[in-house]
Amino acid sequence: MQYANSVLDLIGNTPLVRLGRTLDLEGGAEGGPLVLAKVEYLNPGGSVKDRIATRMIEAAEASGELQPGGTIVEPTSGNTGVGLAMVAQQKGYKCVFVCPDKVSVDKRNVLRAYGAEVVVCPTAVAPEHPDSYYNVSDRLASEPGAWKPNQYANPHNPRSHYETTGPEIWEQTEGRITHFVCGMGTGGTISGVGRYLKEQAAKEGREVQVIGADPAGSVYSGGTGRPYLVEGVGEDFWPETYDRTVADRVIEVSDADSFAFTRRLAREEALLVGGSCGMAAWAARQVAQELAAEGRTDAVVVVLLPDSGRGYLSKIFNDEWLAQYGFASGAEADHRTVGEV
Ligand code: PMP
Repeated sequence: MQYANSVLDLIGNTPLVRLGRTLDLEGGAEGGPLVLAKVEYLNPGGSVKDRIATRMIEAAEASGELQPGGTIVEPTSGNTGVGLAMVAQQKGYKCVFVCPDKVSVDKRNVLRAYGAEVVVCPTAVAPEHPDSYYNVSDRLASEPGAWKPNQYANPHNPRSHYETTGPEIWEQTEGRITHFVCGMGTGGTISGVGRYLKEQAAKEGREVQVIGADPAGSVYSGGTGRPYLVEGVGEDFWPETYDRTVADRVIEVSDADSFAFTRRLAREEALLVGGSCGMAAWAARQVAQELAAEGRTDAVVVVLLPDSGRGYLSKIFNDEWLAQYGFASGAEADHRTVGEV
């Protein structure tokens, strides 16, 4: 019989799939480098964040910060929340997530479905107000038995990628990867994977180029934190989990290009993925086109796709929502950004 004892044993070991027509290479995909997508929505919680959730919780158990029957408190409503809720439930911990009231009811319900508690805070109050998002999460995290993973500063976030995602990519490509493309939120993925791949390549006297993809406006691509609509990536500060020495280059991607390319991935590659995936894959296409122009058909580009498109059906996959912000729904993105609407 083939079975896992727990869904937690199903985290990681996600497949690589070749991208084809969306690369728009002259002479077709065969005429350019091999571009492979690492499909992280196939993790049991539906995203790359399952990996950091397990690793951060196991490290806190080992250090004694998280005791049996303890409570995990994190101000998140996204993929990290789902990963933490799933792991916490299987290991017998309580989970409390604090989120601002602008977070969609669907997202809150996903967390509750796993058995987590969700505390919703008003967005309309000042940060120093006792009911503010910041104050409520700090208060809950300081209660006895509570532990806050803090994905933006926890070294086990990048470490999980150094220990799992990086080695998987190296083995799956038989050490032939030449370029790694990845979006950045906490920076944990790019820092852990990028460092592992560079170290492995260096042992063979080669290099792996690490390329970050970033929403226009975010600090990683030199912005000031100007708003953008792609979720899960880009920051208005430099997180501790981001290693500034790893990325060789950062490609800035507009919301319009990210969303149009997310739609193309669903329609042309049958990959129903989220907006940060469209952003990263757009950057990978750029890299592939440059490599093709240089005749580097031997290059192997891997792009990491963090989550599924299911969570964005009423946004990116909804023509009215896109039109509201002045974005095209088809392959031809117009280049208007939110600031210009
Ligand atoms: N895409 C999505 C949808 C995410 O939720 C995240 C995590 N914030 C990322 C990309 C970025 O990953 P990381 O935090 O490891 O940089």
